[in-house]
Amino acid sequence: MRIREKRTILIIDDSPSCVSTLTRVLSGTYNIIVAKCGHEGIETAKKKNPDLIILDIQMPDMDGYETITILKKTVSTRNIPVIFITALTKIEDEEKGLKLGGSDFITKPFSADIVKLRVNNQIRMLDYVSTIEQLSRIDQLTGLPNRRSFHERLTSEWKLAVREGTTLSVLVMDIDHFKNCNDTFGHLLGDAVLQKISTVIKDNARKPTDFAARWGGEEFIILLPKTNAEGAHLVAESIRDDIEHFTIIFKDNRKTKVTMSVGVNTHSPTRECSVNEFLHHADNALYAAKRNGRNNVTVHQPK
Ligand code: GH3
Ligand code: MG
Ligand code: MG
Repeated sequence: MRIREKRTILIIDDSPSCVSTLTRVLSGTYNIIVAKCGHEGIETAKKKNPDLIILDIQMPDMDGYETITILKKTVSTRNIPVIFITALTKIEDEEKGLKLGGSDFITKPFSADIVKLRVNNQIRMLDYVSTIEQLSRIDQLTGLPNRRSFHERLTSEWKLAVREGTTLSVLVMDIDHFKNCNDTFGHLLGDAVLQKISTVIKDNARKPTDFAARWGGEEFIILLPKTNAEGAHLVAESIRDDIEHFTIIFKDNRKTKVTMSVGVNTHSPTRECSVNEFLHHADNALYAAKRNGRNNVTVHQPK
């Protein structure tokens, strides 16, 4: 797993002494940014997207309760955890803070060590969540993005293409007679074939916006934003050809080869047409590629 960058904490507090104490205890581990009032805090949170916010309650103009209310209503800041640090000590104050979406509530005077431990706890939760989010988007066997991840990307690229009037292409690929491969070598070596083939597919998704994923079973998919039919056909043909000439060598030195059928669809999306139809046409082209003898690229022909 990649090493995480230093997390950033935004302190929103009008008391310079409190800010300097918090900065002293936290700045060894975290990047610290500071805002002196609620308004400035909200603007800074929107601009800098901190990982965590430490929020005072009693501040001039806008208090901490009002500040968190706006933070939790704003799409770009609503998921940032907020720890209150306050001189208010009544149970009702704490209850109000937690009801408004605060993740923790610390009263002044505070122990610097305990603040640090509580901040660390919140950051650890963020680390868990981001690990789970990453895992939920990756296919475990091949390391490629999974179907869910592909759908998310397709949805956002589709919207972008509608706005910009650009063309999207998609390749849907299925290994030919893969059942024979499993029957001959067993399921585990079948898995190894899928891993090797996924590297060929990854290598052919060359542009930074090209997006290759495992669609399911022995099917793969590539989204090619801003790519016309001719460009998409070139990529599809390159994958088909690379796989045809690729020898898979197992750990025990046995060898095998497979071929791939590819269905291609290209479209300039408008608000009227649907993502599902776009994929459906590519899928139909894939079935046609199978009928055309396999080891074949077939392009969907719009009527
Ligand atoms: P076609 O050329 O028509 O696509 O034939 P095929 O044999 O590839 O297609 P079929 O759908 O009959 O069989 C697909 C096989 O892929 C059967 C299934 O067990 C295998 N398969 C799907 N997912 C995995 C996997 O994760 N690992 C392994 N080893 N096999 C898988
Ligand atoms: Mg299949
Ligand atoms: Mg197949």
